[in-house]
Amino acid sequence: MAKQEDDFKKVISHAKEYGYVFQSSEIYDGLSAVYDYGQNGAELKKNIREYWWKAMVQLNDNIVGIDAAIFMHPTTWKASGHVDAFNDPLIDNKDSKKRYRADVLVEDHVAKIENKIEKEVAKAAKRFGDAFDKEQFLATNPRVLGYQEQATGILKRLGKSLENEDLADVKKLIEELDIACPMSGSKNWTDVKQFNLMFGTKLGASAESAMDLYLRPETAQGIFVNFLNVQKTGRMKIPFGIAQTGKAFRNEIVARQFIFRMREFEQMEMQYFIKPGTQKEWYEHWKEHRMKWHLSLGMGEENYRFHDHEKLAHYADAASDIEFRFPFGFKELEGIHSRTDFDLSQHEEYSSKKLQYFDPETRENYVPYVLETSIGLDRMFLAVFSKSLQEEELENGTFRTVLKLPAVLAPTKAAVFPLVKKDGLPEIAKEIIADLKWDFNVLYDEKDAVGRRYRRQDANGTPFCITVDHQTLEDQTVTIRHRDTMEQQRVAITELRSIIHEEVDMRVWLRKIKG
Ligand code: ATP
Repeated sequence: MAKQEDDFKKVISHAKEYGYVFQSSEIYDGLSAVYDYGQNGAELKKNIREYWWKAMVQLNDNIVGIDAAIFMHPTTWKASGHVDAFNDPLIDNKDSKKRYRADVLVEDHVAKIENKIEKEVAKAAKRFGDAFDKEQFLATNPRVLGYQEQATGILKRLGKSLENEDLADVKKLIEELDIACPMSGSKNWTDVKQFNLMFGTKLGASAESAMDLYLRPETAQGIFVNFLNVQKTGRMKIPFGIAQTGKAFRNEIVARQFIFRMREFEQMEMQYFIKPGTQKEWYEHWKEHRMKWHLSLGMGEENYRFHDHEKLAHYADAASDIEFRFPFGFKELEGIHSRTDFDLSQHEEYSSKKLQYFDPETRENYVPYVLETSIGLDRMFLAVFSKSLQEEELENGTFRTVLKLPAVLAPTKAAVFPLVKKDGLPEIAKEIIADLKWDFNVLYDEKDAVGRRYRRQDANGTPFCITVDHQTLEDQTVTIRHRDTMEQQRVAITELRSIIHEEVDMRVWLRKIKG
């Protein structure tokens, strides 16, 4: 645990030191669970968003993107169920006065049991060496089976109690599991209560005429209320999808995990409108497709897993999370939800407007079913950033900190250095910058010894460093150094663009999804 916490602290301080993420309003001591993205963070975030948008909208002929407003008519949230049911179960510890999400306390307890399974696996792998068969071990080892049974039993019971709104049983479960407050160790708990997560605000100048509004807690509803507008104007035929990225707001009860759980965050969502009865196959399709998107970034298959939901949200008939191995363990990164016709039917009822699709082949009208993929941009940022941050021991026994961001997402693609600040080398370096900047984000650095400049760019996540030296004056060649291998090549200045392009071009990365 201590190592995990230590690694996570390093992620947070590196994000700050290198201009990726700052605490919001830091000069006023910050605002809890609200963060600002710095000069590098804004670029990384933009690149992740673009990577998603290209894969989702540009490469799918039947998916289009929109940009709906954050403010929506308040009846939207009545219809969607958020006013009545967008609650989290909270529990307070009477001694430490700390507030927790009751379901998260239980899930964290289960994560500890799962950790024990991982430890057993690691131990056995060491003992058996090459002969180790993980699948078989998981299926037969009595201790592991015992842990698995415990974990699923707890999650099942939690799911059932939440579904039945049996909050007294959630408290009972916490007590039975002997869960203590992580801050104080106390087991003196209050009852579990529901807490609505939406932020309210007002629209209008005078107190009498002002209208109560909510800041949207998800981007999906902006898609549902525009379903017919897009279908008609785009002449879309089912199945088709509508995608959007944008801010969402939730008054989270516990928000202690940096940008993992924020009160203002960004979502990237896609609602896929389908014929009723086909939801199972589309659910499987999108689960597989989204997993491929994640794997295309090369951050290791072992760091992802599906988690099928026991407890379904009020709108869903099937749901699964893609979980990622964050520095604090496996947690939800993306949700794939089969939302049935819940949302469109509700909006039909509350607006008294028909939200139906006319099938030109069967000549029937129906309310489509919806398959949703929903990922948090900030969570994706944390996944990429935390996995990329590495400490490496070099051959000479020294260490380097390197941010091995997938090159396609890196904020700066190349840094250009003159070896020395004289003899015309800076001028050539600046000419190279002036040329490359039409295609890539590049930067110029002439301060300190070249070795120090390399380290700075390693820590910054820059995939290439280009050095101009005296030989450049003679033959128009430079050295190009690769961040991950630290290999250096002598190449002609005229080749630089294509060398960089080959590694950072989205086309090359996204092809892996199709392939
Ligand atoms: P959690 O169980 O972690 O609260 P959720 O199941 O409520 O998440 P969804 O409503 O399915 O999340 O939202 C879709 C995605 O939006 C999540 O997978 C996550 O990546 C992101 N997300 C949700 N809440 C937050 C938040 N407070 N901060 C950052 N990202 C979030």
